[in-house]
Amino acid sequence: MLKGKTALVTGSTSGIGLGVARALAAQGANIVLNGFGDVDGPKAEIAAMGVQVSYHGADMSKPAEIEAMIEHATKAFGSLDILVNNAGIQHVARVENFPVERWDAIIAINMSSVFHATRLALPAMLARNWGRIINVASVHGLVASAEKSAYVTAKHGVVGLTKVIALENATSGVTCNAICPGWVLTPLVQKQVDAKAAALNVSNEEAIRRLLGEKEPSMQFTTPEELGALAVFFCSPAGNNVRGVAWNMDGGWTAQ
Ligand code: NAD
Repeated sequence: MLKGKTALVTGSTSGIGLGVARALAAQGANIVLNGFGDVDGPKAEIAAMGVQVSYHGADMSKPAEIEAMIEHATKAFGSLDILVNNAGIQHVARVENFPVERWDAIIAINMSSVFHATRLALPAMLARNWGRIINVASVHGLVASAEKSAYVTAKHGVVGLTKVIALENATSGVTCNAICPGWVLTPLVQKQVDAKAAALNVSNEEAIRRLLGEKEPSMQFTTPEELGALAVFFCSPAGNNVRGVAWNMDGGWTAQ
């Protein structure tokens, strides 16, 4: 379905980004990877799916590097058709204890990077009258949790920005939507599981049970594969008029 198209997925060396990159590659899209983790493994895996793959190591907190990444992705295989803004980090602390440097980093990486990558990718998408911008927000773009001030602020910002981009391009072939996962067991969340296990002096399994039990009625993690399938839907012809949604995939978290 996506043969001949190119997708750039930020933060795709692990977790959700890698899951989305795999799902888009399975539909034939060429992939540009980004992120700080192991590059060779994901690159080889995507190449083995029979598509072209490239990598750019831009730091998503740095606008000049984001500009270089978009230029790389545009030239890599001829055009940049699908932009998945996924890179993100987390830090957990009460507001009065929140390190200022962590606040700035989360706002830059989780929110401002979406603005920068999108503003730079949009003109060429509009010129071809086809494009998909998919922002990996979070349930924390819709509701809050204590001790996640920067993350909740950034993700609410991403959901708002998603709606503005969708509206500004509503009469074009460029759509913009957000995906709002609940808990997904990636390195980002394993750190929170480890912290809970240590704080409560319980096993990894018990910490997971408590983590899910606090928020996620299904008591199941959403998987990167499920999120990848949603990204594929946004890229499909059936997604042509899906514009500005913040689609939660959260085991019932925000239904409560
Ligand atoms: P992860 O830690 O597995 O992946 C994050 C990716 O971002 C990695 O590839 C990492 O190298 C990259 N990254 C981090 N800082 C970067 C920077 N400055 N520049 C470029 N790349 C950078 O985490 P994940 O859980 O897969 O998270 C992916 C996205 O999904 C994030 O935006 C996160 O907020 C969101 N999300 C995650 C969950 C969850 O439960 N895991 C839930 C909702 C939303």
